[in-house]
Amino acid sequence: MINVMDHAIAISKLSKKYRRSGTFALHNLSLYVDAGEVYGFLGPNGAGKSTTIRTLLNFLQPTNGSASILGHDIVKDAVAVRQEIGYLSGDGAVYLKMTGQQYLDYLGELQPPASKAYKQELTKRLQANLKKPLGELSRGNRQKISIIQAFMHQPRVMILDEPSSGLDPLMQEVFYELITEAKDRGAAIFMSSHILGEVQKVCNRVGIIRDGKLIIERNIADMAQEATQTFDITFKEAAPVTMLKQLSGVQKVTQNDVHSVTLHVHGELSPLFALLAKHTVTKVDTRALDLEEVFMHYYQAEGKQDV
Ligand code: ADP
Repeated sequence: MINVMDHAIAISKLSKKYRRSGTFALHNLSLYVDAGEVYGFLGPNGAGKSTTIRTLLNFLQPTNGSASILGHDIVKDAVAVRQEIGYLSGDGAVYLKMTGQQYLDYLGELQPPASKAYKQELTKRLQANLKKPLGELSRGNRQKISIIQAFMHQPRVMILDEPSSGLDPLMQEVFYELITEAKDRGAAIFMSSHILGEVQKVCNRVGIIRDGKLIIERNIADMAQEATQTFDITFKEAAPVTMLKQLSGVQKVTQNDVHSVTLHVHGELSPLFALLAKHTVTKVDTRALDLEEVFMHYYQAEGKQDV
C-alpha cells in the first residue's frame, strides 16, 4: 500500500478507460517517487505513458484509483498540484506568437522564477533565443524555452513527458545535467521516455509499462548487475586464457593476440579482479555499460508479471 504522505509522488491503483474505448488504457497503476529520485517511466507506443501523465496533471479524470503530489490530491487539489510542479512535454504546445521572453514572463506570473539569475543561467546554458516569436523557432529551439519554463522556479516535483525529443546531442547533455542538478537539490522527477540510453544515464529507478500495466520496476543499479560488461585486458606475459574461461560470470573470452583478450562478464566482477591481481596487467579498458539489452528483454518479454 502506497502511503500518500510518505512520497513526493504517490500513485495508487490508478486506472483510466477512455469514454468510447472498451479497454483500460491504464490499469491499477501503483508507484511512488521520492525526493531526490529520478523515476524513468518506459514503455512502447500506446503503453499508457501519456495517459498516466495527463491524468496526474488533471487533463484527464481517472476512472478509478487516486494519486497525490506533495500530499495534494491530483483531482481535488489540482490547482495546488499545478502550482507546485514543473511540467515539460516533448510536443511543446506553446503560444506561437509570443517571444520566448514574453512566454516566460507570462508563465512566471503563475510560478515565479527561483531567481532572475537562475533563469538567465538556464537561457545561457541552453543557448536559448528569447527574442524570436516561438513560431519562428525550430522544434528543438522551442523545446529549450519549454525546458527553461519547467526548471526556472526550481520545483520540488517535475513531470517530464518525453522531454528530450527534438534536442541535439549537445543540448541533450545540458538537459541531463539540469535533471541531475534538480535531483541533487532534492526534487522528485517522474520522466517518461523511450530513449533507453537517457534513462540509463539519469534515472535511479525505472518502471516499464505495457498495455496499461506496470510490468516491472527496478533500480538501475540492480539492472547493472544483470548487464554484461566488456573488458579489453593486456597482460605482460601470455594471457591466461584457460583460467579466464573458467571464472564464474565470464561468458566469452576472445584472444586478440598472445598478450591481450576481450572478456564479456556477467554480474559480480570480484573473481575476475582476484585473478588479475595474480598477474602483471599492463592495460585494462572497460566499455560503457549498456543496459539497453536488459531493457529490451523486459520490453519484449512474453510472460507479463503484475507487480
Ligand atoms: P503512450 O503515451 O505510452 O504512447 P497512450 O497513453 O497515448 O500511450 O495510449 C494508451 C492507450 O490509450 C492506447 O491504446 C491509445 O490508443 C489509447 N488512447 C490514448 N488517447 C486516447 C483517446 N483520447 N481516446 C481513446 N483512446 C485513447
